Amino acid sequence: MSLIHKHLSKTPNFRNDPIKMNTNGSLKQEVKLNTIGSVIKSVSYEIKFSANKGRGAFLLEPVEAGNLVLLEQAAVIGPKQTSPLVCLECFTKLSTKDLEYCCSKCGSTLCQSCSNLELRPLHDSECQIFQQAGHRFNPSTEKGARALYNIVTPLRFLLRAERNPEILFLHDNAESRQDTLIYCFNQVTVARTLREQLQLKERFSEAFIHKACGILDTNCYELGWNQLQARGLFLDIAHINHDCVPNCFKFFDENNNMCVMSAQDLQPGDELTLSYTPPLMSTPLRQVILQQTKLFVCHCARCHDPKELGAKLAALKCSPCGGDVLPENPIDLNSDFRCESCATIVPSERGKMMLDTAMKFVGKGSGNTQVSGDTFDVIQHLGRFLRPTHNLIVDLKLRFLNQLLMEVEHDLESRDTAETQEKLAHSLGFGLDLLNMAVIVNPGKSRLRGIISDLYHKLDKHVINGQDIKCEMEALMSEKDIQAQFKFDRGFHANNGTTLLSNGTKCLG
Ligand SMILES: [Zn+2]
Ligand SMILES: [Zn+2]
Ligand SMILES: [Zn+2]
Ligand SMILES: [Zn+2]
Repeated sequence: MSLIHKHLSKTPNFRNDPIKMNTNGSLKQEVKLNTIGSVIKSVSYEIKFSANKGRGAFLLEPVEAGNLVLLEQAAVIGPKQTSPLVCLECFTKLSTKDLEYCCSKCGSTLCQSCSNLELRPLHDSECQIFQQAGHRFNPSTEKGARALYNIVTPLRFLLRAERNPEILFLHDNAESRQDTLIYCFNQVTVARTLREQLQLKERFSEAFIHKACGILDTNCYELGWNQLQARGLFLDIAHINHDCVPNCFKFFDENNNMCVMSAQDLQPGDELTLSYTPPLMSTPLRQVILQQTKLFVCHCARCHDPKELGAKLAALKCSPCGGDVLPENPIDLNSDFRCESCATIVPSERGKMMLDTAMKFVGKGSGNTQVSGDTFDVIQHLGRFLRPTHNLIVDLKLRFLNQLLMEVEHDLESRDTAETQEKLAHSLGFGLDLLNMAVIVNPGKSRLRGIISDLYHKLDKHVINGQDIKCEMEALMSEKDIQAQFKFDRGFHANNGTTLLSNGTKCLG
């Protein structure tokens, strides 16, 4: 009997038998490690059945806003199947020049410093398998790189599951995945390669390999900022369910540990929630991601409200009256749109066309060389099709803030020109728009509010003779709070707010 079957027969029934998974005690007590040793710190909570969502994590003690809920080391960490060239040990992005430092034994991609290490805790066990099978990878071609990255993380999971079968308790979405494209892809690229080329037929059954892929795709979080590309499986954090208006947020510290913080004051019995999608995406976009990659339909209050609780991130501009045209049923990916003011109906297809046109505009204006002035122009153009709350415009406003800040800081002399001062005034207006949106979709001491507040303060410092309206802005977090709360957040001070906000998304492959 394979490991997976032995294990499944022992799976407890979570519906009838809530299990207290974490007895670590609160942070005030001495910190103890859980059985796998992956939880570093945790408040006390229990795993039990949650309506519509399966298992969930429920607090057993009160937690104030802005506090650490869980700090956890990945049980499995590895490249995404789609990763560019990365070091398999530290996940630094590599260039083709770095290919000379590939593992001498198996050809896997390593950076210069990791290739010189005597012990490589992550790579060594798979390296042994590659050597035993006499298999060498050739990542210098795209095909060769894919052949390697497709299997590394599933293989790391399988090896971990041999030592710690409890990781097989995680949800794998097996039924919904059966015979999907993802399933077929993994059958060819993962199961066959591991069992045949790497000679692991005796060790891992096909079903076991598919379970590994399913658990990874369902539960992994993406660690992606600037130069780092990986996905990680965090066993305890994996129990935290999704909500489009989450009460917690997450980030990664410098050791690639994942940190979950409370954004709001929470009481015993409250379910901990995180968002698996970037916070400023509209409901139709979030639904696409959740339905297609996480295989569930989110039924939260934000998803059911065409106005998204007031954020209106999908609002097109009504051509007869200029009002907000919103999806009638945001959960339905083919929903028609309706104008809030004049009730004009925009059929689904027409709505999608308007969005395509808008996307083309953004495409034209994008690229690495883009400056704040161009971004501002694109925002003005898009105003013809989209309302100012639309997520495309919101993304551009965020980009504008980041670009302007970089430009001003690189050329302090230009700061005092009338042109720059005018842009700065616009940026504070945009900052305020974004903050008002942040308190709707990520209320409390959230990371989103922190990021935008931080940008606001930095831009505000360069304004000459502006009115000081900071004290009237409830949504703005103080610099002191930002300092205290995001001290350990590795991605917080990265220089691109747009990529920064998508970091930590639950990912596929
Ligand atoms: Zn490295
Ligand atoms: Zn190797
Ligand atoms: Zn939702
Ligand atoms: Zn109208």
